[in-house]
Amino acid sequence: MKIAIFNNQAEQSVNIANNLVLAMKKNNVIIDNSNPDIVVSVGGDGTLLGAFQKYVDQIENIRFVGLHTGHLGFYTDWLSDEVNQFVDSLLHDNGQKVSYPLLELTVVRTSGEAYKFLALNEAVIKQPIGTLVADIYLGGQPFERFRGDGIAVATPTGSTAYNKANGGAVLHPSLPAIQMSEIASINNRVFRTLGSPLIVPQDQEIIMRPKSNHFLVMYDQEEIKGQNIAELRFKVSQKRVHFAQYRHVDFWRRVQNAFISEIE
Ligand code: NAP
Repeated sequence: MKIAIFNNQAEQSVNIANNLVLAMKKNNVIIDNSNPDIVVSVGGDGTLLGAFQKYVDQIENIRFVGLHTGHLGFYTDWLSDEVNQFVDSLLHDNGQKVSYPLLELTVVRTSGEAYKFLALNEAVIKQPIGTLVADIYLGGQPFERFRGDGIAVATPTGSTAYNKANGGAVLHPSLPAIQMSEIASINNRVFRTLGSPLIVPQDQEIIMRPKSNHFLVMYDQEEIKGQNIAELRFKVSQKRVHFAQYRHVDFWRRVQNAFISEIE
């Protein structure tokens, strides 16, 4: 078993990561940051997003596991005072895993070239100045002309992040679907959008054709540089992200813990 450790630069995360490296070496576990079987993320959910994007080309062969230095997260099952238990679980790994849906974003340039990206949380198309104008197609048909600040398209595990701030629903990660939510749409007698989040199943695409050229495209913590984008396509990826599941933390308990009250 080969382990990579990915941590943020907070002092506590660096200390835990150093202790994990020592514990792994003491137990003859190979530390391999290039071709790991398991990536241990030490930090928050944001840190795990960084780990996911770092290893995105290898995700079919990798399992992630997260140790949170704050509260219980959505991608993290362990807390900073559980390092010993966590090491013990890692050393007794028997391949147990849980898998979640991902978002596939295709960016089509005006030249016709197309590039694919994977997101664990979401993709966001946002125009910081002026109004984003974009035609949205659903089921292969024109659906609406969007005018506003932007849209977000989230995975089920990303539904508790940006999507939730946009009034999106929290989606259980056993559902292979993506959710589009609006960011400050203009709705009046002249301009009209659906005005509510919508959920699209596997095998269907959301297509967006922007009419303006001053927007930003973000996916997780990444930004796609350059303009000249003719079309953006969003669908549930055929790939999934795998997590080493040494213990089960119920999704609704995570939601409750994050937004309502501390788990007793
Ligand atoms: P950040 O701005 O430093 O922190 C964003 C917050 O979102 C952190 O508290 C992070 O948790 C939390 N988070 C990340 N993924 C989550 C998930 N799946 N469910 C619930 N909370 C989640 O940015 P970051 O840490 O690099 O994370 C990037 C993410 O921030 C983006 O993917 C986007 O979803 C989110 N974001 C949200 C808004 C908004 O709500 N208006 C705006 C911009 C970005 P930890 O503290 O555990 O890291």
